[in-house]
Amino acid sequence: MYDVIIIGSGPAGLTAAIYTARAKLKTLVVAGVMWGGQLMLTTEVENFPGFKDGILGPDLMDNMRLQAERFGAEILFEDASSVDFSTKPFKVEAGGKTYEGRSVIIATGASPRWLGLESEQRLRGRGVSVCATCDAAFFRDKVTVVVGGGDTAMEEALALSKFARKVKVVHRRDKLRASKILQERAFNDPKIEFIWNSVVQEILGEDRVEGVRLRRTDTGEESEMKCDAVFLAIGHKPNTEIFKGQVELDEKGYVVAYDETRTSVKGVFVAGDVQDFRYKQAVTAAGSGCKAALDVIKYLDEET
Ligand code: NAP
Repeated sequence: MYDVIIIGSGPAGLTAAIYTARAKLKTLVVAGVMWGGQLMLTTEVENFPGFKDGILGPDLMDNMRLQAERFGAEILFEDASSVDFSTKPFKVEAGGKTYEGRSVIIATGASPRWLGLESEQRLRGRGVSVCATCDAAFFRDKVTVVVGGGDTAMEEALALSKFARKVKVVHRRDKLRASKILQERAFNDPKIEFIWNSVVQEILGEDRVEGVRLRRTDTGEESEMKCDAVFLAIGHKPNTEIFKGQVELDEKGYVVAYDETRTSVKGVFVAGDVQDFRYKQAVTAAGSGCKAALDVIKYLDEET
Protein backbone atom coordinates (compact mmCIF):
# COMPACT_ATOMS: atom_id res chain seq x y z
CA MET A 1 0.00 0.00 0.00
CA TYR A 2 1.41 3.35 -1.03
CA ASP A 3 0.62 6.66 0.64
CA VAL A 4 0.48 8.24 -2.78
CA ILE A 5 0.53 6.94 -6.33
CA ILE A 6 1.57 9.55 -8.88
CA ILE A 7 0.52 8.77 -12.43
CA GLY A 8 2.83 10.52 -14.90
CA SER A 9 6.49 11.52 -14.82
CA GLY A 10 6.80 14.92 -16.48
CA PRO A 11 7.78 18.00 -14.45
CA ALA A 12 4.43 17.88 -12.57
CA GLY A 13 4.62 14.22 -11.56
CA LEU A 14 8.31 14.20 -10.64
CA THR A 15 8.13 17.47 -8.68
CA ALA A 16 5.18 16.03 -6.75
CA ALA A 17 7.27 12.89 -6.10
CA ILE A 18 10.22 14.94 -4.80
CA TYR A 19 7.91 16.63 -2.30
CA THR A 20 5.93 13.57 -1.15
CA ALA A 21 8.99 11.29 -0.91
CA ARG A 22 10.92 13.97 0.97
CA ALA A 23 7.95 14.22 3.36
CA LYS A 24 8.49 10.47 4.01
CA LEU A 25 5.32 9.38 2.23
CA LYS A 26 5.61 5.99 0.53
CA THR A 27 5.52 7.18 -3.07
CA LEU A 28 5.06 5.27 -6.31
CA VAL A 29 5.44 7.06 -9.64
CA VAL A 30 3.77 5.19 -12.48
CA ALA A 31 6.10 6.81 -14.96
CA GLY A 32 5.03 5.22 -18.22
CA VAL A 33 7.10 3.25 -20.74
CA MET A 34 7.98 6.55 -22.42
CA TRP A 35 8.69 8.34 -19.15
CA GLY A 36 9.56 12.01 -18.70
CA GLY A 37 6.79 13.70 -20.67
CA GLN A 38 7.13 16.25 -23.43
CA LEU A 39 10.53 17.60 -22.36
CA MET A 40 12.04 14.28 -23.48
CA LEU A 41 11.26 15.44 -27.04
CA THR A 42 12.92 18.84 -26.64
CA THR A 43 16.50 19.95 -27.06
CA GLU A 44 17.53 23.11 -25.22
CA VAL A 45 15.24 24.35 -22.43
CA GLU A 46 16.10 28.01 -21.99
CA ASN A 47 13.36 29.18 -19.64
CA PHE A 48 13.47 26.79 -16.70
CA PRO A 49 14.81 28.89 -13.83
CA GLY A 50 18.17 27.91 -12.38
CA PHE A 51 19.92 26.92 -15.60
CA LYS A 52 21.44 30.14 -16.85
CA ASP A 53 22.93 28.53 -19.97
CA GLY A 54 19.89 26.33 -20.60
CA ILE A 55 19.67 22.57 -20.15
CA LEU A 56 18.67 19.74 -22.48
CA GLY A 57 15.09 18.56 -21.86
CA PRO A 58 16.05 14.89 -21.26
CA ASP A 59 18.84 15.98 -18.86
CA LEU A 60 16.39 18.12 -16.89
CA MET A 61 14.00 15.18 -16.58
CA ASP A 62 16.83 12.80 -15.59
CA ASN A 63 17.80 15.23 -12.83
CA MET A 64 14.21 15.41 -11.57
CA ARG A 65 13.88 11.61 -11.57
CA LEU A 66 17.17 11.12 -9.72
CA GLN A 67 16.15 13.80 -7.22
CA ALA A 68 12.84 12.00 -6.55
CA GLU A 69 14.63 8.63 -6.24
CA ARG A 70 17.16 10.13 -3.83
CA PHE A 71 14.29 10.71 -1.39
CA GLY A 72 12.96 7.18 -1.85
CA ALA A 73 10.29 7.50 -4.56
CA GLU A 74 9.80 4.25 -6.48
CA ILE A 75 9.57 4.68 -10.23
CA LEU A 76 7.66 2.14 -12.31
CA PHE A 77 8.35 2.30 -16.04
CA GLU A 78 4.94 0.99 -17.09
CA ASP A 79 1.85 2.71 -18.47
CA ALA A 80 -1.16 2.93 -16.18
CA SER A 81 -3.82 0.90 -18.02
CA SER A 82 -6.82 1.54 -15.75
CA VAL A 83 -7.78 3.09 -12.42
CA ASP A 84 -10.51 2.49 -9.88
CA PHE A 85 -11.27 5.49 -7.71
CA SER A 86 -14.71 4.26 -6.66
CA THR A 87 -13.52 2.75 -3.35
CA LYS A 88 -10.55 3.26 -1.06
CA PRO A 89 -7.76 2.37 -1.25
CA PHE A 90 -7.57 3.67 -4.82
CA LYS A 91 -6.38 1.17 -7.39
CA VAL A 92 -4.07 1.74 -10.34
CA GLU A 93 -3.28 -1.03 -12.83
CA ALA A 94 0.03 -0.97 -14.65
CA GLY A 95 2.05 -3.69 -16.35
CA GLY A 96 -0.55 -6.33 -15.40
CA LYS A 97 -0.33 -5.58 -11.66
CA THR A 98 -2.64 -3.65 -9.35
CA TYR A 99 -1.17 -1.01 -7.06
CA GLU A 100 -3.07 0.44 -4.11
CA GLY A 101 -2.74 3.96 -2.80
CA ARG A 102 -4.28 6.04 -0.03
CA SER A 103 -4.13 8.98 -2.41
CA VAL A 104 -3.42 9.60 -6.08
CA ILE A 105 -1.98 12.49 -8.09
CA ILE A 106 -2.97 12.52 -11.76
CA ALA A 107 -0.11 14.08 -13.76
CA THR A 108 -0.41 12.41 -17.13
CA GLY A 109 0.11 15.58 -19.17
CA ALA A 110 -0.95 16.13 -22.74
CA SER A 111 0.02 14.70 -26.14
CA PRO A 112 0.48 16.31 -29.55
CA ARG A 113 -2.68 16.77 -31.63
CA TRP A 114 -3.09 15.33 -35.11
CA LEU A 115 -4.99 16.87 -38.01
CA GLY A 116 -7.31 13.87 -38.27
CA LEU A 117 -6.39 12.90 -41.85
CA GLU A 118 -6.14 9.28 -42.99
CA SER A 119 -2.98 10.22 -44.92
CA GLU A 120 -1.16 11.54 -41.85
CA GLN A 121 -1.52 8.20 -40.02
CA ARG A 122 -0.58 6.19 -43.12
CA LEU A 123 2.56 8.31 -43.63
CA ARG A 124 3.45 8.64 -39.95
CA GLY A 125 7.13 7.78 -39.63
CA ARG A 126 7.44 8.09 -43.42
CA GLY A 127 7.78 11.83 -43.46
CA VAL A 128 4.96 12.76 -41.08
CA SER A 129 6.14 13.55 -37.57
CA VAL A 130 5.24 15.47 -34.41
CA CYS A 131 8.83 15.79 -33.21
CA ALA A 132 11.45 17.75 -35.13
CA THR A 133 13.98 17.16 -32.37
CA CYS A 134 13.62 13.43 -33.00
CA ASP A 135 13.34 13.41 -36.78
CA ALA A 136 14.86 16.61 -38.26
CA ALA A 137 18.18 14.94 -39.07
CA PHE A 138 16.42 12.57 -41.51
CA PHE A 139 15.59 15.54 -43.73
CA ARG A 140 18.99 17.02 -44.46
CA ASP A 141 18.77 19.28 -47.55
CA LYS A 142 15.07 18.45 -47.99
CA VAL A 143 11.99 20.64 -48.16
CA THR A 144 9.92 20.40 -44.97
CA VAL A 145 6.56 21.74 -43.89
CA VAL A 146 5.60 22.72 -40.34
CA VAL A 147 1.90 23.11 -39.54
CA GLY A 148 0.92 25.54 -36.77
CA GLY A 149 1.64 29.03 -35.50
CA GLY A 150 2.45 28.54 -31.82
CA ASP A 151 5.70 28.22 -29.86
CA THR A 152 6.00 24.54 -30.70
CA ALA A 153 5.68 25.26 -34.43
CA MET A 154 8.43 27.91 -34.25
CA GLU A 155 10.70 25.58 -32.28
CA GLU A 156 10.07 22.80 -34.78
CA ALA A 157 10.83 25.15 -37.69
CA LEU A 158 14.04 26.38 -36.07
CA ALA A 159 15.15 22.82 -35.26
CA LEU A 160 14.44 21.77 -38.86
CA SER A 161 16.26 24.70 -40.42
CA LYS A 162 19.55 23.30 -39.07
CA PHE A 163 19.15 20.39 -41.49
CA ALA A 164 16.55 21.12 -44.15
CA ARG A 165 17.04 23.11 -47.32
CA LYS A 166 13.75 24.90 -46.77
CA VAL A 167 11.16 25.02 -43.99
CA LYS A 168 7.67 26.19 -44.92
CA VAL A 169 5.43 27.07 -42.01
CA VAL A 170 1.77 26.66 -42.91
CA HIS A 171 -0.48 28.66 -40.58
CA ARG A 172 -4.25 29.02 -40.74
CA ARG A 173 -4.21 32.75 -39.88
CA ASP A 174 -2.01 35.71 -40.86
CA LYS A 175 -0.64 36.15 -37.33
CA LEU A 176 1.41 33.83 -35.17
CA ARG A 177 0.40 32.79 -31.69
CA ALA A 178 4.04 32.12 -30.75
CA SER A 179 5.98 34.28 -28.28
CA LYS A 180 7.77 37.32 -29.73
CA ILE A 181 11.25 35.93 -29.15
CA LEU A 182 10.56 32.75 -31.12
CA GLN A 183 8.71 34.68 -33.84
CA GLU A 184 11.74 36.92 -34.29
CA ARG A 185 14.13 34.00 -34.52
CA ALA A 186 11.93 32.33 -37.12
CA PHE A 187 11.43 35.53 -39.15
CA ASN A 188 15.20 36.09 -39.15
CA ASP A 189 16.01 32.60 -40.34
CA PRO A 190 16.54 32.73 -44.12
CA LYS A 191 15.51 29.09 -44.57
CA ILE A 192 12.10 29.58 -42.96
CA GLU A 193 9.23 30.77 -45.13
CA PHE A 194 5.62 31.41 -44.08
CA ILE A 195 2.48 30.37 -45.90
CA TRP A 196 -0.31 32.36 -44.28
CA ASN A 197 -4.06 31.75 -44.15
CA SER A 198 -3.67 28.15 -45.20
CA VAL A 199 -4.41 24.68 -43.89
CA VAL A 200 -3.19 21.25 -44.94
CA GLN A 201 -6.10 19.50 -46.58
CA GLU A 202 -4.26 16.29 -47.45
CA ILE A 203 -0.76 14.86 -47.22
CA LEU A 204 0.26 13.44 -50.57
CA GLY A 205 2.34 10.34 -51.30
CA GLU A 206 1.94 6.56 -51.23
CA ASP A 207 4.91 5.20 -49.24
CA ARG A 208 6.48 8.49 -48.20
CA VAL A 209 5.53 12.13 -48.09
CA GLU A 210 5.74 13.77 -51.49
CA GLY A 211 3.70 16.91 -50.94
CA VAL A 212 0.67 18.54 -49.38
CA ARG A 213 -2.63 19.83 -50.67
CA LEU A 214 -3.29 23.25 -49.19
CA ARG A 215 -6.51 25.20 -48.87
CA ARG A 216 -6.57 28.94 -48.28
CA THR A 217 -8.75 29.83 -45.31
CA ASP A 218 -9.68 33.23 -46.80
CA THR A 219 -10.51 32.36 -50.40
CA GLY A 220 -10.99 28.57 -50.24
CA GLU A 221 -8.53 28.20 -53.12
CA GLU A 222 -6.70 24.86 -53.22
CA SER A 223 -3.15 24.15 -54.39
CA GLU A 224 -0.51 21.44 -54.20
CA MET A 225 3.02 21.90 -52.96
CA LYS A 226 5.93 19.44 -53.09
CA CYS A 227 7.73 18.59 -49.86
CA ASP A 228 9.55 15.68 -48.22
CA ALA A 229 8.20 15.91 -44.68
CA VAL A 230 5.34 17.36 -42.67
CA PHE A 231 5.81 18.23 -39.01
CA LEU A 232 2.60 18.85 -37.07
CA ALA A 233 2.66 21.37 -34.23
CA ILE A 234 -1.01 22.19 -33.70
CA GLY A 235 -1.30 21.94 -29.94
CA HIS A 236 -2.02 19.17 -27.50
CA LYS A 237 -4.81 17.09 -26.00
CA PRO A 238 -4.93 15.94 -22.38
CA ASN A 239 -4.09 12.30 -21.60
CA THR A 240 -7.25 11.40 -19.71
CA GLU A 241 -8.59 8.31 -21.50
CA ILE A 242 -8.25 6.07 -18.42
CA PHE A 243 -9.90 8.64 -16.13
CA LYS A 244 -13.21 8.82 -18.02
CA GLY A 245 -16.00 7.99 -15.59
CA GLN A 246 -13.56 8.11 -12.65
CA VAL A 247 -13.07 11.87 -12.14
CA GLU A 248 -14.89 14.84 -13.63
CA LEU A 249 -13.48 15.97 -16.99
CA ASP A 250 -14.42 19.12 -18.88
CA GLU A 251 -15.78 19.17 -22.44
CA LYS A 252 -12.25 19.13 -23.88
CA GLY A 253 -11.21 16.20 -21.71
CA TYR A 254 -9.11 18.11 -19.17
CA VAL A 255 -9.41 17.04 -15.52
CA VAL A 256 -11.53 19.60 -13.66
CA ALA A 257 -9.51 21.02 -10.76
CA TYR A 258 -11.21 22.50 -7.71
CA ASP A 259 -9.25 24.73 -5.37
CA GLU A 260 -6.13 24.28 -7.58
CA THR A 261 -5.36 20.56 -7.17
CA ARG A 262 -8.47 18.70 -5.98
CA THR A 263 -10.50 16.57 -8.37
CA SER A 264 -14.14 15.54 -8.00
CA VAL A 265 -12.93 12.51 -5.95
CA LYS A 266 -11.68 13.17 -2.43
CA GLY A 267 -8.10 11.94 -2.14
CA VAL A 268 -7.42 12.14 -5.88
CA PHE A 269 -5.43 15.22 -6.88
CA VAL A 270 -4.27 16.62 -10.21
CA ALA A 271 -1.25 18.57 -11.47
CA GLY A 272 0.30 19.84 -14.70
CA ASP A 273 -0.86 19.97 -18.31
CA VAL A 274 -3.62 17.39 -17.79
CA GLN A 275 -5.61 20.16 -16.07
CA ASP A 276 -3.92 23.25 -17.57
CA PHE A 277 -4.87 24.41 -21.05
CA ARG A 278 -3.62 27.93 -20.36
CA TYR A 279 0.02 28.15 -19.23
CA LYS A 280 1.39 24.71 -20.17
CA GLN A 281 4.97 25.45 -19.19
CA ALA A 282 7.48 23.11 -17.58
CA VAL A 283 7.86 25.50 -14.67
CA THR A 284 4.11 25.93 -14.09
CA ALA A 285 3.67 22.14 -14.28
CA ALA A 286 6.43 21.73 -11.69
CA GLY A 287 4.75 24.36 -9.51
CA SER A 288 1.41 22.63 -9.73
CA GLY A 289 3.06 19.29 -8.90
CA CYS A 290 4.43 20.91 -5.76
CA LYS A 291 0.95 22.22 -4.83
CA ALA A 292 -0.66 18.81 -5.37
CA ALA A 293 2.01 17.16 -3.20
CA LEU A 294 1.49 19.67 -0.38
CA ASP A 295 -2.27 19.10 -0.59
CA VAL A 296 -1.75 15.32 -0.46
CA ILE A 297 0.46 15.67 2.62
CA LYS A 298 -2.25 17.76 4.33
CA TYR A 299 -5.04 15.40 3.22
CA LEU A 300 -3.25 12.32 4.59
CA ASP A 301 -2.44 14.15 7.84
CA GLU A 302 -6.10 15.02 8.33
CA GLU A 303 -7.28 11.54 7.31
CA THR A 304 -5.30 9.76 10.02
P1 NAP B 1 -0.66 26.27 -29.17
O1 NAP B 1 -0.04 27.45 -28.51
O2 NAP B 1 -2.02 25.83 -28.77
O3 NAP B 1 -0.61 26.54 -30.73
C1 NAP B 1 -1.21 25.65 -31.64
C2 NAP B 1 -1.11 26.25 -33.03
O4 NAP B 1 -1.65 25.33 -33.96
C3 NAP B 1 -1.88 27.56 -33.15
O5 NAP B 1 -1.15 28.47 -33.92
C4 NAP B 1 -3.17 27.11 -33.83
O6 NAP B 1 -3.70 28.11 -34.67
C5 NAP B 1 -2.71 25.96 -34.67
N1 NAP B 1 -3.76 24.95 -34.87
C6 NAP B 1 -4.53 24.34 -33.93
N2 NAP B 1 -5.34 23.43 -34.50
C7 NAP B 1 -5.10 23.48 -35.83
C8 NAP B 1 -5.63 22.79 -36.94
N3 NAP B 1 -6.55 21.84 -36.79
N4 NAP B 1 -5.14 23.09 -38.16
C9 NAP B 1 -4.20 24.03 -38.32
N5 NAP B 1 -3.64 24.73 -37.31
C10 NAP B 1 -4.09 24.44 -36.07
O7 NAP B 1 0.25 24.96 -28.97
P2 NAP B 1 1.84 24.81 -28.84
O8 NAP B 1 2.54 25.62 -29.84
O9 NAP B 1 2.07 23.34 -28.80
O10 NAP B 1 2.15 25.40 -27.42
C11 NAP B 1 1.51 24.86 -26.27
C12 NAP B 1 2.00 25.60 -25.03
O11 NAP B 1 3.36 25.26 -24.76
C13 NAP B 1 1.93 27.11 -25.16
O12 NAP B 1 1.52 27.66 -23.94
C14 NAP B 1 3.35 27.50 -25.46
O13 NAP B 1 3.67 28.80 -25.01
C15 NAP B 1 4.12 26.43 -24.69
N6 NAP B 1 5.43 26.21 -25.30
C16 NAP B 1 6.45 27.05 -24.92
C17 NAP B 1 7.70 26.91 -25.48
C18 NAP B 1 8.79 27.84 -25.02
O14 NAP B 1 8.52 28.72 -24.23
N7 NAP B 1 9.99 27.69 -25.49
C19 NAP B 1 7.92 25.93 -26.45
C20 NAP B 1 6.87 25.13 -26.85
C21 NAP B 1 5.62 25.29 -26.27
P3 NAP B 1 -4.34 29.48 -34.08
O15 NAP B 1 -3.19 30.31 -33.68
O16 NAP B 1 -5.12 30.01 -35.22
O17 NAP B 1 -5.20 29.03 -32.93
